[in-house]
Amino acid sequence: MNIGNVKIGKGEKIAIQSMCNTDTRDVKSTVAQILELEAEGAHIIRVAVPDMEAAAAISEIKKQIHIPLVCDIHFDYRLAIESAKNGADKIRINPGNIGGEDRVKAVVDICRERNLPIRIGVNSGSLPKEFEKPSVEAFIAAAKIHIDLLNKYDYDNICISLKSSDTKLTVDSYRAFAKLHDYPLHLGITEAGTTYQGIIKSSVGIGALLLDGIGDTIRVSLTANPVEEVRAAKGILKACGLMKDGVEIVSCPTCGRTKIDLIGIAAKVENALKDIKKPLKVAVMGCVVNGPGEAKEADYGLAGGDGVGIIFKKGEIVKKVAESELVSELVSMITKEDI
Ligand code: SF4
Repeated sequence: MNIGNVKIGKGEKIAIQSMCNTDTRDVKSTVAQILELEAEGAHIIRVAVPDMEAAAAISEIKKQIHIPLVCDIHFDYRLAIESAKNGADKIRINPGNIGGEDRVKAVVDICRERNLPIRIGVNSGSLPKEFEKPSVEAFIAAAKIHIDLLNKYDYDNICISLKSSDTKLTVDSYRAFAKLHDYPLHLGITEAGTTYQGIIKSSVGIGALLLDGIGDTIRVSLTANPVEEVRAAKGILKACGLMKDGVEIVSCPTCGRTKIDLIGIAAKVENALKDIKKPLKVAVMGCVVNGPGEAKEADYGLAGGDGVGIIFKKGEIVKKVAESELVSELVSMITKEDI
């Protein structure tokens, strides 16, 4: 599936999405946020289109950004049509809640004409009335109703999401859906919460599915700055072995043998190396006795002693330095040799 210049599905890399929380009508703020999210690593961005003024803003926003833009529409089919005309790369809609079938056909016609995918976003909060409460069966049936409605107009350029704030229900629903259908899947746990809880729920839910080989694009939903969503999404992909870019810090949990400020040192190392794109494993270990051995697989590392520490490469000790210089020595070695 092509979403602008990003491909998803059929073995393509998993695309990271986020959603702006600016007023879409405020082009300046929306573009600024999208550029920030692009720089952070978002591959696709979504904006809410609640009215015609927001739909009209899409063309100006599109001119100033570099990643595909998804327009999120509820209820009013004319907003979908206007967004498509103004350059949307994908439409997120629930075909069942935009009115009569002639309206669905009108949206399908313009999406077909412009080769725009439609995401059917099934959410526990917006299930069709006939379903009393969210369940795997209700999610699958609701998705099928929407798919059938689009298929009726011979339209099949469809991506699906089945989101609940209940992590287990979400995972079970995607797993069951993936056994029945072959559509690209947008993964996410909806309304996952504030940063800490939201990242845990998203990591468990999205991570479980990705490790099953399910999912083509992911959105971590957080009640936080969307930059945190992109960071978390990258972290999930890395933890699932689906993204190798950047530095992975391997650090020990500290114990009674730790004689240096390892927690502070680990934070400093992580921050100093955060902009490196090359895949590197860097170990930050609390003691010389066990550190280098336990972190043999790391490309570089440091281990603390009592006021002094060592720098090592691939488990071999390279030099001994004072605690105060451990971070700067390690960072300068990495930047000189590897970057
Ligand atoms: S590396 Fe050393 S300090 Fe860190 S947890 Fe292991 S034994 Fe403790």
